[in-house]
Parts: sequence; C-alpha cells; structure tokens
Amino acid sequence: MFLRERIKDDSKYLNDRSSLKGHAKNVILPNDETELREGIRYSSKGNTKVTISGSRMGDQGGAVPCGGDIMSMEHLTGVIGAGKDDKGVYLRVLPYTTVSFFNNSIKSGRIQSIDGSDVSLDGLVFPVKAQLENTVGGCIAVNRYGIRPYVRRLRVVFSDSTFMSMERGEYLANGRKMTFPAGRNFFAFDLPSYDSKDDSGPKISENMDLLDLFIGSEGIFGIIIEADIYLSATVSDSQTEESGKMRNSLIKDKYGQEAVEDLKKIKSILDPNYILNIGNMF
Ligand SMILES: Cc1cc2nc3c(=O)[nH]c(=O)nc-3n(C[C@H](O)[C@H](O)[C@H](O)COP(=O)(O)OP(=O)(O)OC[C@H]3O[C@@H](n4cnc5c(N)ncnc54)[C@H](O)[C@@H]3O)c2cc1C
Repeated sequence: MFLRERIKDDSKYLNDRSSLKGHAKNVILPNDETELREGIRYSSKGNTKVTISGSRMGDQGGAVPCGGDIMSMEHLTGVIGAGKDDKGVYLRVLPYTTVSFFNNSIKSGRIQSIDGSDVSLDGLVFPVKAQLENTVGGCIAVNRYGIRPYVRRLRVVFSDSTFMSMERGEYLANGRKMTFPAGRNFFAFDLPSYDSKDDSGPKISENMDLLDLFIGSEGIFGIIIEADIYLSATVSDSQTEESGKMRNSLIKDKYGQEAVEDLKKIKSILDPNYILNIGNMF
C-alpha cells in the first residue's frame, strides 16, 4: 500500500528553483513501481491532478503543483545494472537516481552486468552537463542539455496505471500516425503537423520514435520509472530550453496554437482524465 501524506503550506514540495509557489493537498511517496501504479490509479479514479516531483531543481516551475497531489519520486533511486550494445555502454537506473549517485556508482566499480556482457565503465560518466542533485527522470523530462540521444530505453507509467517499456527504434511512427500497445491499451493517434525546429519539447517529426515523445515533454504524457542512459567519456553541454509553468507558451510561440491543440489531443488519449503535470509546456 502506498503512502499518501497531507502536506503543510510551507512544504518543500511546493517550490522548485523558480519564483513560483504552488499548492497541493498530499504527497504520494511510492517505494516501488507497484506502489507508484497504485498511487496513480487512486489519483486517476478520484480525478485528482498529480504533479511529478524530482529533486525540484528546475528553474521554470515544472515540478511546482497547481492543486491536487504530488507524486514524489524520492524513494525510487538506484542503479539496476550496466549493459552494452552496438551504440555503447549504458546504465539502467531508477528515476530519482541523481547525477552524483550515477557517477559515484560508476566509480565504485560494483555495478552488475544486466545482459551478461563484460562491461568496462572505466573513464565513463553521465553524458550531459548537470547539477549533482538533478535526477535522471527530471533530466529526461526536460531534455536537459540535449540528453535525448543518450536515452536508450524508457519504462513509463501512464495515468491509468498501465505501463510499457520502449527501446529506441522499437516503436516508430508511420508518417504522422503513431500506434503502439501499452498493457491493456492500444494507443493510436496522429502526430502534430509541425517539425521541431530545435531540441526543446518533444521532438516531433514524420516517422518519429515514440521514445522522443516522452523526452522533453515535461511529464505531461507519462511518468518515467526506469531509464537506460548511454555513458560517455565527455560531458555534452549543448543547452536546451525548459518551459515548465513559467514559460509554457514556447510551443505556441514556435509552432502556433494548432500545435498546442494537437499535443493536447495526444495528452487526452494517453492521460484520459487529464491529471498529469497540468500546466506544463502549454
Ligand atoms: C541554475 C540552474 C540552471 C539550469 N540550467 C539548465 C539548463 O541549462 N538546461 C536545462 O535543460 N535545464 C536547466 N536547469 C533546470 C534543471 O537543471 C532541470 O530542470 C533538471 O534537470 C531537473 O531535474 P530535477 O530532478 O530537479 O527535476 P524537477 O525540477 O523535480 O522536475 C523537472 C520536470 O520534470 C518532471 N519530472 C521529474 N521527474 C520525472 C519523472 N520521473 N517522470 C516524468 N516527469 C518527471 C517534473 O514534473 C518537472 O516538470 C537549470 C536549473 C537551475 C536551478
């Protein structure tokens, strides 16, 4: 059974690094994926808005709640293991794993192989510039410093509590039509007609990879509960824009109101009660 606690007006969960001050009633503190799914199912049934909370280092208000409950990822931390494929060596981690924990785990030399391969992690680090307290889930949600190409695989829980794992290349749109199975659901929708001009927000294009819908979309489509991140010998610092709740007109400004409406349609399919991270991105 998941823990759901009442929060006070001065709770740490109501702020991030922005000037926004939020409000919410309770914080849900899942200890594992099963509890997180129970928690989101409960919220969905009660039609309660849920704001996903990482380490709240965002500076645009993405993790600041505007009512409802908070889903704190703080107990979902740790490195599951390391693997290797033709693109490189990767770590599989839980969403609240911080950049500091990530890099220290590599240095510890105690990471197990998850695919039986003999993986050497020597000289490798978290691939993008980030503050030590940033969580992997938060970095992926805002596409921090262009983490996108380093994301190999994601496991995502939807607001109806179903979940799916997806590897890069596994689910590709057919032109602008995206279809994929997720638990008891089979999702099908049209992608917006714009092509992303840069790397903020989800990367929309013809034949796009489903993975790219969840990277940079600030938690509006699903909760990231596991990720494979390719390691690198160098740290990339190509800056990207975060919109949060402070600058949530970015999509409209760049691509117009039709783009916003198209993304809202996708949200209403993936999050039918429209409860997840309301106020982010648009
Ligand atoms: C001084 C400063 C400079 C910064 N510079 C940059 C920069 O140059 N580039 C940049 O991209 N960012 C920058 N940021 C923003 C910040 O570093 C990122 O937002 C950070 O990676 C977020 O990590 P977090 O764990 O603190 O996430 P949070 O702040 O807790 O959350 C960020 C967003 O991700 C969502 N989220 C968190 N975890 C999950 C999850 N598991 N599943 C789905 N959604 C989730 C939250 O709901 C929220 O919308 C900066 C912040 C500060 C304070």
